[in-house]
Amino acid sequence: GAYLDYNATAPPDPAVRGEVAECLAEGWGNPSSVHGWGRRARSRLETARERVAALAGCSPREVSFTGGATEANNAVLKGFAWQDGGARTLLVGATEHPSVRETARYLAGRGFPVAEVAVDGEGRVTPAALREALEAHGPVGLVSVMWANNETGVLQPVAELAAVCAEYGIPLHTDAVQAAGKMPVDFAGSGAAAMSLSAHKIGGPQGVGALIRDARRLPVDPFLHGGGHERERRAGTENVAGILGFGVAAGLARERLEAAGAHARGLRDRLEDGLRGAGVGVEVVGDAAERLPNTSCLLLPDVEAETLLMNLDLSGFAVSSGSACASGSLEPSPVLLAMGIPSNRARGSLRVSTGWATTAGEVEAFLETLVPQVRRLQDRAVHSA
Ligand code: PMP
Repeated sequence: GAYLDYNATAPPDPAVRGEVAECLAEGWGNPSSVHGWGRRARSRLETARERVAALAGCSPREVSFTGGATEANNAVLKGFAWQDGGARTLLVGATEHPSVRETARYLAGRGFPVAEVAVDGEGRVTPAALREALEAHGPVGLVSVMWANNETGVLQPVAELAAVCAEYGIPLHTDAVQAAGKMPVDFAGSGAAAMSLSAHKIGGPQGVGALIRDARRLPVDPFLHGGGHERERRAGTENVAGILGFGVAAGLARERLEAAGAHARGLRDRLEDGLRGAGVGVEVVGDAAERLPNTSCLLLPDVEAETLLMNLDLSGFAVSSGSACASGSLEPSPVLLAMGIPSNRARGSLRVSTGWATTAGEVEAFLETLVPQVRRLQDRAVHSA
């Protein structure tokens, strides 16, 4: 078997595990304390902030640590809405992660003006579509469009979208959770005013993330009130060990960025070519768009993805159908529906995502297991039709 679900969560690197354990043993002080224990914890926290900033291409001052990217996305969207008092519209992409889309839906239910910008058939928010939405829903106060989609790996033209936003004087927030560590992400160069990251997608611990924000371009109300932690942006004693693990993972991700990209691209091409050669009618979602090197979203005709997923699990292979957050329900993925894929096709979607520990042998073994299982399900569907 093999773990091929890195977009759901990545296994922590051994160096991360070691340093988190060391921190829990020796670095457990409160960073706000003035004594030695506190100062040592503070120093670990600030080292992690520098490492995350280096991976993200921002200044350490722009990084506030959060309890994951779901919190970072909630914080920037709700913080904007509360600050703005509903004067201007919040515009979000049609294929955003639920932590953006559901937050937008909640705000709309509370009376805040919210709108969505559509994607094209490859899942991209084009600059023209953004311009059209800005004209239709103005005045817009914040745009949120992700860097890379978690289900399809499709990249958004973030810098071009930021340039359109800049013409209107509107800040852009981007959820870069899936892009970070898999491809170069440069906050300063992108033109975005805010960006969300998650530690566990890059080999750090779960429940740790960051909201990166240029406070001059995007003022928002704090999400958590209390002590003055994180420069008044996010109250609560910091998760020092988790944040330290985030920093170690960010440092490793930065060192390995180029090699990891090439490695993942090789595995992905082998997987997709192998499946295309197998004659099972596979369609690769977002094939014509720029994509993350590690992600394949595969549509398999006459296959119920949930059944395939369970069969693969019995054989020891971990993959996803649609998004992990939506599985368990038989609803087709909203991301694929927003791309115009019909729901019967969307029900046969399988997401395979690789990472630093994935080997070529694992991909071969996966193909050898997957192809006969797909054929069996397709035969059964044909015979029962
Ligand atoms: N955004 C994207 C694109 C994601 O893939 C995820 C994780 N599924 C999140 C946000 C939420 O991150 P976290 O698990 O850290 O809350």
